[in-house]
Amino acid sequence: MALTSLWQDLNPRDALTRTEVGGTYDVVVVGAGLSGLTTALLLARAGKSVLVLEAGRVGHGTTGRSTAKVSVLQGTRFSEIARKHPLGTLRRYVSANEAAQTWVRDFCQEHGVDTQERSAVTYANGASGLRAVRRELELGIEAGLPTTWLDRADLPFDNAGAVSLPGQLQVDPVALLDALARQLRTQGGEIAEGARVERVSGSSPTTVTTAVGTCQGRHVVIATNMPILDRGGFFARMKAQRSYGLAFRTSSPLVDEMYLAADAPSRSLRDARDDTSALLLVGGNGHPTGRASSPLARLEELREWTRRHFPEAGDETHAWSAQDYVPAHSLPYAGPVLPGADHLLVCGGYAKWGMTNGVAAAMVLSARILGGECDWADVFSTERPAELRGLPTLALANGEVGLEMTAGWLRPLLARASTPAEGEGRVAYDHLGGPGAESTVDGVVRRVSGVCTHLGGVVRWNDAETSWDCPLHGSRFAEDGGVLEGPATCGLRAVRRE
Ligand SMILES: Cc1cc2nc3c(=O)[nH]c(=O)nc-3n(C[C@H](O)[C@H](O)[C@H](O)COP(=O)(O)OP(=O)(O)OC[C@H]3O[C@@H](n4cnc5c(N)ncnc54)[C@H](O)[C@@H]3O)c2cc1C
Repeated sequence: MALTSLWQDLNPRDALTRTEVGGTYDVVVVGAGLSGLTTALLLARAGKSVLVLEAGRVGHGTTGRSTAKVSVLQGTRFSEIARKHPLGTLRRYVSANEAAQTWVRDFCQEHGVDTQERSAVTYANGASGLRAVRRELELGIEAGLPTTWLDRADLPFDNAGAVSLPGQLQVDPVALLDALARQLRTQGGEIAEGARVERVSGSSPTTVTTAVGTCQGRHVVIATNMPILDRGGFFARMKAQRSYGLAFRTSSPLVDEMYLAADAPSRSLRDARDDTSALLLVGGNGHPTGRASSPLARLEELREWTRRHFPEAGDETHAWSAQDYVPAHSLPYAGPVLPGADHLLVCGGYAKWGMTNGVAAAMVLSARILGGECDWADVFSTERPAELRGLPTLALANGEVGLEMTAGWLRPLLARASTPAEGEGRVAYDHLGGPGAESTVDGVVRRVSGVCTHLGGVVRWNDAETSWDCPLHGSRFAEDGGVLEGPATCGLRAVRRE
């Protein structure tokens, strides 16, 4: 059962007509999220012939499920970056995010996409959060931002203080994507939906193979959030982090600003509207993809928290889930997949701040293809020598992944042999000797291979979305084995039941 986000519901899709892919383009972009569509539009405006290939529909990915705060203050990101990089890098990160925010603001104004201006507020629940929030205030000021201190955030529960940045934005991310797609088509760009890319090969031009045809690009941009190609080892450089969102009907806005907790419990709050009334959005309870014993329980806990702290919140209108990728070195990526491979570019690693970083990445990539460079492009480098040198060890010493790999193959030994109850799934060794994943959804029992097609992790059942999620690098599959998201490009093999 796919959980539909508020934004996907507010911007419904017509049925997909059959797509065929072919021809040669200056640039082929893979992925119609914010990064891909912005890259494509910037290049089409500069006169390039551009084709966007999208596995599902525009807004099918993380952008369509985002909380969509377009903010330069980003929880405790400044502290995370400053722990690993010099202040100058943080300053350029802030400049990149400011430039991206201005671009989004201007684009929305020009093309009739509603935005609301709000302060972004990072608040502390307790002592550890308070230290983090004070540090964020200092770093914001050092980076040249007008961050200010609040002794108490204006929230209906205890908090220990907050840092605030005025003049930030919130948006409906699918309305933004739809406007980008319209503009792209106006500029002569093309979008093929239902075109999952399965293979990328060769150079100048590069051949891109999809389930509905093959095309060629002088440049190919992989904007699939986690890059679908294993070249460049991005799977070892970032972790998939899944988290949850809820929307509640309210008679008037219950929060005036955009809030994010610095410490546990992690909560993200903002308001929104649909045709009927104001809405309260509550996000949080994140965990590494495929590693929560019950995602459904996480969602339930978020519901219970909201009822306790916002008793005025009315009916729940939407519940959904999404994932983003958190880079080990704390900075996002936009550049060649391998040093010198300018025909094949990637982006991602936004650590849940892609509404600005995705746009900044698009600026970096389009400038690079057009022969220029953004002032702060180094912040997005995919080619840091120290990081590249460390990749083999990073891949081997990625302890949690290694542990999951072992546990994943052992866990099925302990599984009960009975058919799973309705809404449940289990992985057990099957008659072919491998982990088989069996589920029962809507009375239908299905059995597929339990081994992820990306890098051989053993999948785990997600009881909130009735999906199989890989704990290694975040690939997700429907109960029939079809790819939902993540770096995998082909589905789990169907296994006949004995
Ligand atoms: C719960 C949550 C809340 C968030 N809230 C915020 C926020 O408030 N502010 C903020 O700045 N950021 C936020 N983020 C992060 C932000 O939403 C993302 O970083 C951003 O949307 C990523 O955009 P993208 O275009 O790179 O990826 P996506 O939007 O995921 O787009 C990638 C596209 O590629 C397609 N694709 C994948 N594989 C293939 C393939 N093989 N072939 C063809 N197409 C393919 C997918 O279908 C998808 O449409 C949040 C993230 C999460 C998880």
